[in-house]
Amino acid sequence: MSTFSIAIHGGAGTLVKGLMTEELETQYLSALEHSLDAGYASLSAGGSAVDAVEIAVKALEDTPLFNAGKGSVFTAEGTHEMDAAIMDGSNLQAGSVSLITGIKNPISLARDVMDKSYHVFLAGEGAMRFAASLGYSLESPEYFYDEVRYQQWQGIKDTEGFQLDHSVKKDGKFGTVGAVALDADGNLAAATSTGGMTNKKWGRVGDSPMIGVGNYANNHTCAVSCTGSGEYFIRGVVAYDVSCLMEYKGMTLEEATSEVIHKRIKKIEGDGGLIAVDSHGNISMPFNTEGMYRASRNSEGTFEIGIYK
Ligand code: ASP
Repeated sequence: MSTFSIAIHGGAGTLVKGLMTEELETQYLSALEHSLDAGYASLSAGGSAVDAVEIAVKALEDTPLFNAGKGSVFTAEGTHEMDAAIMDGSNLQAGSVSLITGIKNPISLARDVMDKSYHVFLAGEGAMRFAASLGYSLESPEYFYDEVRYQQWQGIKDTEGFQLDHSVKKDGKFGTVGAVALDADGNLAAATSTGGMTNKKWGRVGDSPMIGVGNYANNHTCAVSCTGSGEYFIRGVVAYDVSCLMEYKGMTLEEATSEVIHKRIKKIEGDGGLIAVDSHGNISMPFNTEGMYRASRNSEGTFEIGIYK
């Protein structure tokens, strides 16, 4: 069997060692490991990269620790509006949803857009009607409620501010989530899911559901999932930029991801990071913030898990 690899993230931001309790740190590490193991198990059973990234992201959406699915941040109206995207690098098929509410696993709805519709990107009410047509049931607002997220929102509610979930003070919880994988057949895939930014309004959509921005996969180059200040990542067209640097400039995965995160996005004041895997199974997880929840594993025996620099 050929090499297979998977990497996941749970958001990048102001993650400074010593600011989090040991107990919380352990919870984050075990949630990351649980997601990584689920995706890896699927790959080692011969599953596709698309299946692996969906499985890994679902596990992260199901824990309130991260800003995706359960535990998504609050909008200015006190609701939860979620965005997600998935892409199959073998055929450039992709599916995205944004501004959806009540869906337990937004990444699965994005996958259904890819697999069961002629479209790539469905938003808001239309995306909800598509979900209803497939028989999705809705979770109540209580399912998504999380006390820490609520307090984050209370802190800036009624102001014009909106906040990256990552840039909060002590004990804050962080985390858009994502996964990238290479399967044993040589196919790449990427998936990303988020609740966006605290106190967002006017139907604000970040980079995460945008194909080529927060999420991209192409068997010829790499699969990428981003996290960070969405407004800047959109202007930097980050995920596709990594792929282009590899394709047009002949850079390695490491060179391309480092160029984008430490130079190009930094230059326009974008904070964040990404995870990426190439068609040889190499993994790169750079970030220009204090930390990024991340983990990776491949079939050659490498394993990495971390939060801080
Ligand atoms: N990039 C996401 C957004 O702007 C936020 C994040 O990465 O946590 O919606």
